[in-house]
Amino acid sequence: MTDTSNYVQGATGDWEVVIGLEVHAQVTSNSKLFSGASTEFGGEPNDHVSLVDAAMPGMLPVINEACVAQAVRTGLGLKSEINLFSRFDRKNYFYPDLPQGYQISQFQYPIVGEGVVIVDLKDGSSHEVGIERLHLEQDAGKSLHDQHPDYSYVDFNRTGVALMEIVSKPDIRSSEQAKAYVTKLRTILRYLGTCDGNMEQGSMRADVNVSVRRPGEELGTRTETKNVNSIRFIGQAIDYEVGRQIDVLEDGGKIDQETRLFDPKSGVTKSMRSKEEAHDYRYFPCPDLLPLELEQSFVDKLKADLPELPDEKKERLIKDYSLTPYDAGVLVSDRASADFFEAVAKGRDAKLAANWVINEYFARIKKDEKTVEDSPVSADQLGGIVDLISKGDISGKIGKELFEIVWEEGGDPAEIVEARGMKQVTDTGAIEKIVDDIIAANPGQVEAVKDRPQLLGWFVGQVMKESKGKANPQAVNAILKEKLGV
Ligand code: ADP
Ligand code: MG
Repeated sequence: MTDTSNYVQGATGDWEVVIGLEVHAQVTSNSKLFSGASTEFGGEPNDHVSLVDAAMPGMLPVINEACVAQAVRTGLGLKSEINLFSRFDRKNYFYPDLPQGYQISQFQYPIVGEGVVIVDLKDGSSHEVGIERLHLEQDAGKSLHDQHPDYSYVDFNRTGVALMEIVSKPDIRSSEQAKAYVTKLRTILRYLGTCDGNMEQGSMRADVNVSVRRPGEELGTRTETKNVNSIRFIGQAIDYEVGRQIDVLEDGGKIDQETRLFDPKSGVTKSMRSKEEAHDYRYFPCPDLLPLELEQSFVDKLKADLPELPDEKKERLIKDYSLTPYDAGVLVSDRASADFFEAVAKGRDAKLAANWVINEYFARIKKDEKTVEDSPVSADQLGGIVDLISKGDISGKIGKELFEIVWEEGGDPAEIVEARGMKQVTDTGAIEKIVDDIIAANPGQVEAVKDRPQLLGWFVGQVMKESKGKANPQAVNAILKEKLGV
């Protein structure tokens, strides 16, 4: 059945949105794609530049095996075909910050072919986005226009750093799906350790292709908005483009296939260059590099060593700990959270553990702007709190107070409970004494509860208050029912 829920209503009827993304992801590696220079972020301008990066005459590129392995691992993580034969081409263009005068990229024969990403949507459903290809290429450097009134400077530190360009099929149907796709892609890359996914530092950025069409018709003409560098901006750029394109078409106009730029300040896209001015890059095989031929055994070894990825981890958490798909999805959204949960849940009541990790612990982390890595409560400590609740030593309510103490002051939860007398009273003698006092002090209520059994809750509340929340609720209920005869 056709999914019509993402259709956009125009003045003259429904429109279907079609989106394809080209994501540039910086490869995590110590050195660059074709030289031994460091890839470290920051540093003084031009600290990390080898003679190859500076394109000195006679210098030859040498492929970095670690970058190739990272591209293959990423391809495997995207359930993609790995091409044992691939080739590097020169993309000729004047880049002021890439002194070769061309970019070494893969055009006709990329290292990775078709694959798929399962995108998890907010309503709990999922959507498959096809991967068209992934290829390796060099990044350019950075021009600095604010250092001197009359001159521009150039920083080649990033020149030659390896990028993976990950091209999706035009399978995305809304800005929501696009944002969820990039989020999922980033999670997969982070699990693999092939890209740190830090969009603020430019390690990941996207070219956003958008078109609209009448449902069921051929693909419409697309525009490509370049270099969008945050997930929120990707959503805004799409929403703006969709609105603009529908307006143009409904006014009887035509969409120009063009390159646009997104302006985060105004939230609009602006035309940068049209197809008529499109560059002819004169791609040809790079004569300095042999084609890249991989052994199947090289790929197999990388495959065998892949970590458990988010989709598989989610399945396993659902199965091993009887979690809901929603809870499992929250937990696997980053590896550290999933590891933390498993450390808390191992050998304990998984549902209770999930509840504490997701509702209490994550909320507290968020409040203090911490991360799992630097939070003051360890998995052992949270596990200790869960143990005390499971054993009936403390109630869930006291557990929250205890969590706050451990968060602020540290320490062993069991020792804190002991030392501060927070233990739940299960001693029936002590509870009976409190119940008797309350019954004696409230004859009116005792009379009333006989006709209105729901008043029992009021008695429970009184006993809990008197015991400062430490009386065991099951015991309180049982004793009250017996003594009140309800
Ligand atoms: P190019 O290499 O010229 O940029 P491609 O055909 O490789 O073009 O497509 C680039 C991206 O644009 C891909 O992510 C693809 O899914 C997307 N795309 C192609 N056609 C459309 C379209 N009509 N609407 C939206 N996205 C599209
Ligand atoms: Mg393109």
